Amino acid sequence: AVARLQPFGGTIFAEITELARAYDAVNLGQGFPDWDGPARMLEVAREAIASGVNQYPPGRGTADLRSAICEDRAESFDLEYDPASEALVTAGATEAIAATMLGLVEPGSEVILIEPYYDSYAAAVAMAGARRVSVPLVRDAAGFVLDVDALRAAVTDRTAMIVVNTPHNPTGHVFGPEELAAIAELAVERDLLVLSDEVYERLTFDAPHVPIASLPGMASRTVTVSSAGKTFNVTGWKIGWALASQPLLDGVLAAKQFLTFAGGSPFQPAVAHALRHEQEWVADLRASLRVKRDRLTSALAATGLAPFRSEGTYFVCADADGFDAAELCRDLPRERGVAAIPVTAFVDDPEPWRSTLRFAFCKRDEVLDEGVRRLAAQ
Ligand code: PMP
Ligand code: GLN
Repeated sequence: AVARLQPFGGTIFAEITELARAYDAVNLGQGFPDWDGPARMLEVAREAIASGVNQYPPGRGTADLRSAICEDRAESFDLEYDPASEALVTAGATEAIAATMLGLVEPGSEVILIEPYYDSYAAAVAMAGARRVSVPLVRDAAGFVLDVDALRAAVTDRTAMIVVNTPHNPTGHVFGPEELAAIAELAVERDLLVLSDEVYERLTFDAPHVPIASLPGMASRTVTVSSAGKTFNVTGWKIGWALASQPLLDGVLAAKQFLTFAGGSPFQPAVAHALRHEQEWVADLRASLRVKRDRLTSALAATGLAPFRSEGTYFVCADADGFDAAELCRDLPRERGVAAIPVTAFVDDPEPWRSTLRFAFCKRDEVLDEGVRRLAAQ
């Protein structure tokens, strides 16, 4: 690969899932649910294929899906977007993230990431020829909190964008009102763009999700990214979207049109159906994940690990005091028949996270129980 991509190697998810397969391990590593999404949604996709919806959709996504996304955004979060000019369907949130960087960040400028951060952010910054600057989430008694002073100190004249991810992968932290306000005030004061990755927006267990675009001065400077994958248990469909004011969305589209142009035509009507008619299913998903979070958190504690508090997402982190998490995660599939992800895969400064593992609880109860049984076995 070219020099700017060499530091990234292969993704941690590919590596650990491969090990999990090789040793027939319980995969509590890669975050994907092991049961299906709403039955009617799956049927709509099958019907679309059967009725010939198999050619290129419009580059921005079908008008119907864009309307469904905007209606849902208005209903759920009271945020208004024009489906014709402010919504773009992408190949998962991953493409939306890359297209946002490629279309809106000039080479040589700086992008602030809050670490630990989802792995694609750093690679997308590098592909855009920009430089990443990391500021930490730090642990406190309640869980995790943004180091707001470090964030302020990280902004320079070259800063173009701050990337925010709430609910947060890998920690499960849900950014509170003070944290979001601090980021928003800084963005307004220093005239920065914000990329808000909200793929887990429906998966909060203790407090509701707050989109940063809803804060004063933020609607015009925020690109919000989300995805059907996490909301409707279809991570393999890769239907995501970006929402932003027209000038920003035009930039995202300028890049997206040459990355994939368009995709997923039979899935688009299915996701439109789900956004309009499957909100009860989503409420049940949230409730069941909340119970799974509790189940895995207490089971991990019983094995001697020290779990942190997860407030959302698919994930709970736990500390394996005295162990190197990266080594442990490479050994666990073979030695214990369980896969987990080392949080060091998501950071520039590994020190505070050396012994922290991320476990996914978006699995059937019998799978969670078997994973924990194997971890506990001597
Ligand atoms: N952002 C975060 C924080 C994620 O966890 C994921 C998927 N695990 C993505 C983006 C990518 O989403 P998609 O699969 O829709 O590309
Ligand atoms: N987002 C998922 C996770 O964090 C995995 C995505 C991927 O495999 N690239 O586990």
